[in-house]
Amino acid sequence: MTLSHADYQAIASKLKPNGQAFIDGAFCDAADGEKFETTNPASGDVLAEVAHCKAADVNRAVAAARRAFNEGTWSRAEPEERKEVLLQVAKLVREHAHELAVLESIDAGKTINDCMEEIGVEVPKFFQWYAELADKTFGKVANTGPGALGLVIQEPIGVAGAILPWNFPLLMAAFKIAPALATGCSAVIKPAEQTPLSTLRLAELMHEAGVPAGVINVIPGYGETAGQAVGLHSDIDTVSFTGSTEVGRMFMRYSGDSNLKVVGLELGGKSPFIVLGDAVMDDDLIDHAAMAAFWNGGQNCSANMRQLIAAPLVEEFSSRIVDRVRAFKLGDPLDPATDIGSMITRDHKELVMRYIQSGLEDGASKIMGGNSELPGHFIEPTVFQNVTPEMKIAREEIFGPVLGIMSVNSAEEALTVACDTDYGLHATVFTQDIDQAIHMARSLPCGTVSVNGYSEGDIKTPFGGYKQSGSLARDNGTEALEQYLQTKTIWIQTKAG
Ligand code: NAD
Repeated sequence: MTLSHADYQAIASKLKPNGQAFIDGAFCDAADGEKFETTNPASGDVLAEVAHCKAADVNRAVAAARRAFNEGTWSRAEPEERKEVLLQVAKLVREHAHELAVLESIDAGKTINDCMEEIGVEVPKFFQWYAELADKTFGKVANTGPGALGLVIQEPIGVAGAILPWNFPLLMAAFKIAPALATGCSAVIKPAEQTPLSTLRLAELMHEAGVPAGVINVIPGYGETAGQAVGLHSDIDTVSFTGSTEVGRMFMRYSGDSNLKVVGLELGGKSPFIVLGDAVMDDDLIDHAAMAAFWNGGQNCSANMRQLIAAPLVEEFSSRIVDRVRAFKLGDPLDPATDIGSMITRDHKELVMRYIQSGLEDGASKIMGGNSELPGHFIEPTVFQNVTPEMKIAREEIFGPVLGIMSVNSAEEALTVACDTDYGLHATVFTQDIDQAIHMARSLPCGTVSVNGYSEGDIKTPFGGYKQSGSLARDNGTEALEQYLQTKTIWIQTKAG
């Protein structure tokens, strides 16, 4: 249920966020007692002091996770038991949706409507969906001759690490924790340093729901210290990372330099939104184009920031998207009327502003936005026309509200431009021609291709990237379980025929 701005402000004023680490079923300070502040990016207000965890704290959390895994209370519980507890987690998240959504909104600068959708709807759905899968997965029996029985079973891999980004903090936590715990793994989670609060509160609710001590641990801290300690820890069996391609590379190296842990990577993107010449230029298409670019203020790994439009449609598209985007309200993230919230930090805002400057210097035409003279870390949604493939704003992930419109003369040219990138996370294609849609979908080297609508799919469909947007690992769908399982063959010699 959506509340009023005043209601959300009242909830915010009563929150007393706990920034301590959550290890072995209890909140605690970092071993050395150090703390850092987490602030509201929209107002600059300090929200909480947060435990500044480092290697010693990661060691403690991993030891608790390993002990819990070896004890087997969770890892070897009947799958129905894990299901019941995870269903209870879903229930508690729903019951605390307003509180969690407000916490997320003030910690991340995200709009309250998005937080309510992600936390009131999506996060509990994740726990529910993987809970219900827990007792519905089966192994295989190999087709052997009469002298043997070949069983292929899957077992929880052990201790799972998760490293989270700041753009969808609790949703990304659910992406990792729900399948990991459904398989029986224990988890050690490092939220992004900018947005630790919702994940810490989730851990507390999970404990209340019946997740045993040690099975879920949250260690807030910085990448170079806590994150690196997770990557290099020799008793973590798998790590699932969502963040930048640059840091993703480090996790591959950490694995090589430690215990060869499995590394699942969900990384950046520079995704195309392709409108072919036969597409119907209606309000629906424009809504999807605007959402593809500006959802979450463009701080979205699958944002479609290169919009490749058939040349005869470019003028109409540009003018209609500008009209649509002008209607977006920028402002207080806790106001349900707000469509676009704050950039996550001052540094990030400055980075995005440098991209806008580079677009201007490279000769792209700014047709709206770009103003940053607003209090807080806000940037007006910005649209460039006459963008060409070699420009920096066409090639690099900006992670802010900066859309580049490019003109293409044919479907084949659209494909060539779309594929000319190291990324491969997502693409959208608009066309009325089913054969063309299938051809484009098959030809685009991306983890998700969305046809006649911008979407990342849903919980049932795997999400991840081709090329340098990820590894073979996938979040969501039954595929996500693979990150937390390993396969064992049991070969039984039999005398009976
Ligand atoms: P980031 O890579 O800087 O940080 C992500 C996480 O890694 C944070 O928890 C951070 O503390 C940690 N980290 C940073 N440096 C580290 C180091 N040296 N060692 C270990 N850990 C380290 O990314 P970000 O700025 O938080 O998020 C933005 C990026 O995430 C964008 O590139 C975006 O595309 C990507 N992203 C991808 C997906 C996806 O599913 N593919 C989803 C959301 C965001």
